[in-house]
Amino acid sequence: MILNVSKIINVPGASMELSFNKKIDFIELGKDKISLIEPVEFVGEISCTDGKELFLTGKLSTVLELPCNRCLVAVTTPISITINQRFTPDRTDNYNEDTNLIEGTEIDLKPVFIKEIILNIPMKTLCNAHCKGLCSVCGQNLNKEICDCNEELLDERFAILKTLFNGSK
Ligand SMILES: [Zn+2]
Ligand SMILES: [Zn+2]
Repeated sequence: MILNVSKIINVPGASMELSFNKKIDFIELGKDKISLIEPVEFVGEISCTDGKELFLTGKLSTVLELPCNRCLVAVTTPISITINQRFTPDRTDNYNEDTNLIEGTEIDLKPVFIKEIILNIPMKTLCNAHCKGLCSVCGQNLNKEICDCNEELLDERFAILKTLFNGSK
């Protein structure tokens, strides 16, 4: 995802329209790997307003596969992100950690996009709002099948309820 900006860099008011899609198979996030099941699509523009800095604006979209927070089943999760990124050739002026440095006349958009995707991963992913999760004893996916240990646990609870009920009589 290397973007050559030699035509607009140092040219006040110049801009380039961008539209492309690129496959990124997965993003590493600590020990986890997040799969991208659709190419990363970007539509937008990069412009050089003051003849020095470049501004990248547009919409980035892709489809992630995230584990359900309760049962760990892979959930297809489309995401769409508004991109507003500043690129500067040096660390002077108002450089901060949100600013990207340009080296030469090329910008590698891949790390910029990966960072944005990571920042926009939803906090909560559920395969459906009523997901029953995994059995805490045997790990069975309770959406698919109820396991025996769960029934025992239920029986146990009923037994406790019964004794409580009987005791109050
Ligand atoms: Zn689930
Ligand atoms: Zn179980």
